[in-house]
Amino acid sequence: MSFNLAIALRESRRNHPDKPLCHHGSRTVTYAGADETSGRIAATLRALGLQRGDVVAVHLPNVPEFLFAYFGILKAGLVMVPLNPLLRTPEIAYHLTDSGARLLLTHEEFADEAVKGAELAGGVPVYVVPGPGSARRVAGTRPYDELTTVDDTGEIVPADADDTAVLLYTSGTTGRPKGAELTHFQLYMNCTVTGEVFGCRPDDIALAVLPLFHVFGLSGVLNLAVRYAGTLALVPRFETGAVLDALERHRCTIFAGVPTMYTALLQADTSHRDLSALRVGACGGAPMPGGTIRAFEEKFPGVAVLEGYGLSETASTATFNISVEQRKVLSIGKPIWGVEVRIADDTGVALPPGPDHVGEILIRGHNVMKGYFRRPEETAEALRDGWLHTGDLGYQDDDGYFFVVDRKKDLIIRGGYNVYPREVEEVLYAHPGVAEAAVIGRPDDRLGEEVVAVVALRRGTHTTPEELTAHCRQQLAAYKYPREIRLVDALPKGPTGKILKKELRAR
Ligand code: ATP
Repeated sequence: MSFNLAIALRESRRNHPDKPLCHHGSRTVTYAGADETSGRIAATLRALGLQRGDVVAVHLPNVPEFLFAYFGILKAGLVMVPLNPLLRTPEIAYHLTDSGARLLLTHEEFADEAVKGAELAGGVPVYVVPGPGSARRVAGTRPYDELTTVDDTGEIVPADADDTAVLLYTSGTTGRPKGAELTHFQLYMNCTVTGEVFGCRPDDIALAVLPLFHVFGLSGVLNLAVRYAGTLALVPRFETGAVLDALERHRCTIFAGVPTMYTALLQADTSHRDLSALRVGACGGAPMPGGTIRAFEEKFPGVAVLEGYGLSETASTATFNISVEQRKVLSIGKPIWGVEVRIADDTGVALPPGPDHVGEILIRGHNVMKGYFRRPEETAEALRDGWLHTGDLGYQDDDGYFFVVDRKKDLIIRGGYNVYPREVEEVLYAHPGVAEAAVIGRPDDRLGEEVVAVVALRRGTHTTPEELTAHCRQQLAAYKYPREIRLVDALPKGPTGKILKKELRAR
């Protein structure tokens, strides 16, 4: 079957040529504009000699050029590897080498590291998108404009639906980054099915602050908007004021974020803001405290906060709570259309429903990656009989809703008892003084591991560790409550805003 994901852009352009695809600061780009610019990039990449299946690295923040490059690469039948612009030289070199990238597109702000990384990777050519109002020429690079020099022929190379479109490196919260191979068909299906969940329409305006180099931003925000001819309000990094400004100014209808973003928005003074256009808050990427959902909906009436679950390896979404009426708070909902989820024991045997039957979450369906790029062993480990082994622990209830209990590797075993950090975190979040909490295991000679909580307090509160300990002791069995509570100003976070437990453990 011949199918190229870039057809989504072409179709939306055909029906809504003058509609804004994205806003970024004072810039607005229409569907027709994006289709033409990406067409020129596709033609230029081909003229440079890149062949179907070649990899192009895109090392950009959330700017319109990300969209142009992405669709240009797809139209030319090439593969995009999106990279976090905050990566340092050796990391950039690693990703370029591992993916075999033939060209790197970076942004002036991040170009110095990119150039050094490209050099280390054997001299990958680097093109640079200029910063606003800047014409700084970075030595050893070419300007982005040179990638748009060949006329757009309108051609979209007919890729096989099963061809890899994007190599998405897992962010490495758990080890050396691996490139999950996602195909044109998988990415198309995922945004189509997820868009149905939200009832996406062309008049939707989605706030895009989740990084587009991450699966949630790329598939769950960018592809989704393009598929349904919606508009994106691009915000390069999460800063509460900037996010609220963009939500208000563009009258955004959809906000997609990880839990820490919801927590931050909850703490902001929004009394003078008009956010009445907002109708959906899509949430995922990490466990969402139940209290946060309720508090957010109270603060912003008319918004339905819906939690979903997915991984880089599942082209974004695997499960979702489809509506307020049909959701269960604390649950990740039910599998999306065409996807199966199973809870299995260590031998892969399915477990019956019930919170006492916690096992690994396995996923099968159109959304599961082809494999890890050039890593047959890790692929065989992750994909068994078509089932993706997620490394997450969970259970299913009698109504078919799934619950994530924790990541397998975050499980704490204290004196032989299993302690699921998420359960302890949920109790901490219920305390009015707590803004952010993470519970980790600390090696302990006697018990194997000891339960430790790291907490950031809400601004203006003066809760003490002793108070928090007493609060936890009231609600948790003796083996579960944290024996040590450390107060910090803020918890370390990864590029999407997820709390980095690996870093906390290293401390
Ligand atoms: P790794 O380094 O293993 O790839 P990651 O966080 O960088 O970790 P992602 O693909 O970005 O990898 O995120 C997928 C993970 O995020 C899931 O395996 C799960 O642990 C977590 N996750 C996603 N959605 C939820 C949710 N709604 N509730 C709890 N955890 C979630």
